[in-house]
Amino acid sequence: MNQGLFIALLNPAVSLALAVSFFVLWFVQRWLRHALLLCAGYLCCMGAFALQGFEFGMGFAASRLLSNFLFFAAMFLIASAAVSRTGQRPPYGALAICTAVGMAAFIWFLVGLPDFEKRVFAVNFGLGAMCVVLAVTLYRAPKRMMIDRAIVWVAALGALDFFIRPVLSALFAGGYPLMAGMTTPYWLVTNLSALILMLVIALMLFSAVALDAIYQLRTESHTDALSGLLNRRGFHERTAAFFANPRVPRVPVGLVLADLDHFKAVNDRHGHAVGDVVITAFAGLLRQAGADKAIIGRTGGEEFAVFMPQCDLGAARLFAEGVRAALSSGALEQVTPRLGPVTCSFGVAARIGDESLDALFKRADDALMQAKRAGRDRVRVTHLRPDAAEWRTGA
Ligand code: GH3
Ligand code: MG
Ligand code: MG
Repeated sequence: MNQGLFIALLNPAVSLALAVSFFVLWFVQRWLRHALLLCAGYLCCMGAFALQGFEFGMGFAASRLLSNFLFFAAMFLIASAAVSRTGQRPPYGALAICTAVGMAAFIWFLVGLPDFEKRVFAVNFGLGAMCVVLAVTLYRAPKRMMIDRAIVWVAALGALDFFIRPVLSALFAGGYPLMAGMTTPYWLVTNLSALILMLVIALMLFSAVALDAIYQLRTESHTDALSGLLNRRGFHERTAAFFANPRVPRVPVGLVLADLDHFKAVNDRHGHAVGDVVITAFAGLLRQAGADKAIIGRTGGEEFAVFMPQCDLGAARLFAEGVRAALSSGALEQVTPRLGPVTCSFGVAARIGDESLDALFKRADDALMQAKRAGRDRVRVTHLRPDAAEWRTGA
């Protein structure tokens, strides 16, 4: 098989493989709609490359027209997918203008004033302009991961490739007719650079989309579906990460544990569904009252924990008293009328020295038990370590 034919087959085959990969990714994670857009984009790439190598009986002009239109369509779809992945609206208008101008110039130099070199410029500059639109849009979009930045760079490099390659080829490869035909250096360089660019972009986007899926699953596994707060696992991972982070200075840390009082009776009297509404409303109350940096979790059925960085014992106690006061002033009765009073008990502790998370938790839990034993609907604060001689709790 000669070199030209091999490359003519290679690019459509690679495009098809990439399209299949994105399809599989979408098939197993249906919410990843942009994976489907990428699949469509790479299918367009496959058609475009195939028509560059073979005319399929369509004749020169028609096959070139369709091939280059498919290149623009592929870029349109891939750029739209890359942007919609970040949660932004794709710049459809700018992409459509690049496509329209590029295709109009291409058609003019195909049938109006036939000129191979100018057709090459029309297509490459049109695609290059789309890469610029993509790079600028992604540059402005919020970036969560390293890969988001890497994709901006790849789009910018893609733009450079589209702008510089045809100019260099026209200057140094001898111009038309040396640029046309399957074995010319221009054709080989163009196809190989397109292959590399396509692979790099696809790998970046594949990794990004796969990382998105992992991130989403992780978030779901750390979130309590009923209250929207962190679940027990999420709460413990986030607080443990806070303690383990050596960059976090020795800031004061407060911990408030809350347990709704006689919640079994609430369920028995009003039904489980009302119980669920109370749990959700109480979670909203904690979220409202909590500082921005507070880590709030539903650690059990009707048990909650609020981890408060940069809060000393006094501030944590004030927070707990505030939530208790809101409850006794009927904050939940507004959500579910005829509920009757719902109260909650609180245990409050603040980290002492380099105390471990478990020890801090244990002290706050002991304080909560004290609040329950003392009659519920109250806040108890621990002042000292359990192993200290003067271990005591106080109201
Ligand atoms: P105490 O004041 O001692 O905390 O009494 P309590 O009744 O709140 O405590 P107990 O641990 O005996 O009961 C907790 C109840 O919380 C039992 C269970 O039916 C209820 N519960 C746990 N998870 C959920 C939930 O997701 N929804 C609803 N509606 N109820 C729940
Ligand atoms: Mg309980
Ligand atoms: Mg309870």
